[in-house]
Amino acid sequence: MSITVDRKKLSFLERTYIPQIIGGLYITFRNMLKSKVTLSYPDQRPTLPPGYRGAPTLVKDGDGREKCVSCQLCEFICPSKAIRVTPGAIKADSKYAFIEKAPQAFEINMLRCIFCGMCQEVCPEKAIVLQNEFSLAGFSREEMVRDKAALYAAGGTMPDKIKKWSRVKSNEELERGEH
Ligand code: SF4
Ligand code: SF4
Repeated sequence: MSITVDRKKLSFLERTYIPQIIGGLYITFRNMLKSKVTLSYPDQRPTLPPGYRGAPTLVKDGDGREKCVSCQLCEFICPSKAIRVTPGAIKADSKYAFIEKAPQAFEINMLRCIFCGMCQEVCPEKAIVLQNEFSLAGFSREEMVRDKAALYAAGGTMPDKIKKWSRVKSNEELERGEH
């Protein structure tokens, strides 16, 4: 059975569309007078809040040592399988040889990364940190896979108050830089 829906008849004014045009112009002019909320990106950049989670990076400690011990926890937890860690041994003649492992290779595929921060949360060494970079672009898929050198270049140094891997126990020795 078909149903006929009665349509409301338009008034004379409604048929001229003048009220709708005035209503639209009113909204346009009202927004013109409001303070600007848009940016001319990329010439203008937004101010990021503290703790912003941008692209993941690898960081070194205040002594320039890589903090990562290639435990692969970040690789296992990453929901988008963006991380690949190849564990390796620290050179026997290094003063940090007692730490046993450091990554031989470390890759993050930025095309897969969803900036969730799970890798940072799980890292026992605070070695992987999401920093302020949010605008990633490249000409090929390959260049969007960042290797260890690129990740350290983006991450830089992040000194820890606790010198976890220092062999020196006394504060005096630490202050003299003997570690
Ligand atoms: S931020 Fe999330 S998606 Fe990106 S590498 Fe870390 S765990 Fe993986
Ligand atoms: S970045 Fe952290 S969680 Fe990932 S392998 Fe290195 S030490 Fe482990």
